[in-house]
Amino acid sequence: MRNFTPHCIKIIDQNSVVFDPKIRKYVPDERIWLYCKSCDQKWLWDSDDKQSCPICNICYAKNNTGIVILVSNEPIIIASIPSNGMLSGKIETVPGEPIDGVPVYVKKVVGCDPLPDGDDMLIVSAIYAVAARQSGLPMDRLLVIADPVVTPDGNQILGCIGVGPAM
Ligand SMILES: [Zn+2]
Repeated sequence: MRNFTPHCIKIIDQNSVVFDPKIRKYVPDERIWLYCKSCDQKWLWDSDDKQSCPICNICYAKNNTGIVILVSNEPIIIASIPSNGMLSGKIETVPGEPIDGVPVYVKKVVGCDPLPDGDDMLIVSAIYAVAARQSGLPMDRLLVIADPVVTPDGNQILGCIGVGPAM
């Protein structure tokens, strides 16, 4: 699998992030968890009450130095796929005929790089995938990133949970 987007693609374990329905994207899990060092158990912290490990029954230590400690869930990067180059598709917006006085703009593919030789799968940008389909290129080698993982404010892309066929 080769990455023909300009950026290194970080694949993040879906189980290490949470889906935020408000922005409809995956974000880091900002909840606090309790973790038992002794039996490798993790469960959600819901209050500052005394909590004990469901397996060994050892209690949560308030100073966070005991066997049961408070932890946060970091996004786990399971793969980093460096950029192998760039496949560009160019789409321009041109004015069309207005409908009922409302301006109409038509998106038109004005350029699309050819596919590189080989039979390996290629991760491409969503724009390239659209340009390739409109240009009649074979789509069976093209992948785009699956759902992105973003910062909680939605402004910055941290990675994605995987790749998938281009729509
Ligand atoms: Zn335990």
